[in-house]
Amino acid sequence: KSVVAIVGRPNVGKSTIFNRLVGERISIVEDIPGVTRDRIYAQAEWLTTTFSLIDTGGIEIGDEPLLVQMRHQAEIAIDEADVIIFLVNGREGITAADEEVAKLLYKSNKPIVLGVNKIDNPEMRENIYEYYSLGFGEPFPISGSHGLGLGDLLDEVVGHFPEKEEETKDEETIYFSLIGRPNVGKSSLVNAMLNEERVIVSEIEGTTRDAIDTHLHRDHQDFVIIDTAGMRKRGKVYETTEKYSVLRALKAIERSDVVLVLLDAETGIREQDKKIAGYAHDAGRAIVIVINKWDTIETDDKTMKEFEANVRAHFQYLDYAPIVFLSAKTKKRLHTLLPAIKLASENHAKRVPTNVLNDVIMDALAMNPTPTMKGQRLKVLYTTQVAVKPPGFVVFVNDPELMHFSYQRFLENKIRDAFGFVGTPIKLFPRRRQ
Ligand code: GDP
Repeated sequence: KSVVAIVGRPNVGKSTIFNRLVGERISIVEDIPGVTRDRIYAQAEWLTTTFSLIDTGGIEIGDEPLLVQMRHQAEIAIDEADVIIFLVNGREGITAADEEVAKLLYKSNKPIVLGVNKIDNPEMRENIYEYYSLGFGEPFPISGSHGLGLGDLLDEVVGHFPEKEEETKDEETIYFSLIGRPNVGKSSLVNAMLNEERVIVSEIEGTTRDAIDTHLHRDHQDFVIIDTAGMRKRGKVYETTEKYSVLRALKAIERSDVVLVLLDAETGIREQDKKIAGYAHDAGRAIVIVINKWDTIETDDKTMKEFEANVRAHFQYLDYAPIVFLSAKTKKRLHTLLPAIKLASENHAKRVPTNVLNDVIMDALAMNPTPTMKGQRLKVLYTTQVAVKPPGFVVFVNDPELMHFSYQRFLENKIRDAFGFVGTPIKLFPRRRQ
């Protein structure tokens, strides 16, 4: 999938454009209230093309001076993106800061599309010719707040996408990655898994610059670890920034069947953990929560239950994810991890028989009457599985408006319980049937 980055000095409207370009998609994905975070990365679509979009403005590097921040942001864009949208403010003319950014972009050999933002009405288009002087060809007048001109801009952007060969993935192999804030033990866990006696490890040729892929074989099952943590350790200056490592992790998530969300038993749950876990949830991948450094905790017969309750309270939207407690350091309980990954992956790809599915729904309807709105009662007519990875179900109803959020959750849970979808999100899509 191609990557597009939005670059520009502060206040030119990067986030507004970002939200415009991904807005629709987010409203579809965001089906669970309470999952909020600042986004720097999302999937966007234009006509038949989907691509990943980065708002480099969201990448903050400590309290560095503005100019340093901008340079880092541009570097990241040049590094990561296939096409760069260079955004300027059409109401302020070209500023010294714009010229600084432009200088950095000249050095890249990535295609650059110049967007002149805040052109909110047609008369203002007369004034954009001065932006030719930046040297990036035709300036595209747009208005983020009014949603104008974005089509032409995107035509240009998409036109620069490289012809990419799709990654050929072996369907039988389970791809997984590890995410978590710095020092939760990602590298340690990868090393522990690779050193386990019962696995056979082989290197994979042609690994991308984003991650190191390693092949594992255990109990007749092939796995690939997509390891970004190891890359991070190689360390360039800007790779130490939190959000940049998140960005790396997000690319790994995209290629994964299963994502391990690592938490640190020693330090407990932090705000940053929730943000990172939210990204994994949004991507619709299977998830296993791993509590690492379990060796540092004095345990009795209640400790695990208490810790689990705490995790569940903080990560309500991950209620489907199993929790594995282990120590990468002592390898205690490490053997429980690969089976949990395997189970989550199988459930992620599972198809259920339509007749059994409809029996389950019938039982659910009998147990809990459907909601009514303005005298109209929801009628559920027929349910069918339309997708895997994650499993998706279309529910045909008399009127989708009548499907209250809480009732949808109820049906979801019934399906989940009946078929044991441990480790995977499932999605319900109410549709009207006349
Ligand atoms: P990463 O940044 O997530 O890749 O974390 P590292 O793997 O570099 O680990 C960070 C620190 O935690 C290192 O000092 C590790 O030795 C330590 N560590 C990792 N796993 C464990 C564990 O299971 N138990 C203990 N006690 N320490 C651990």
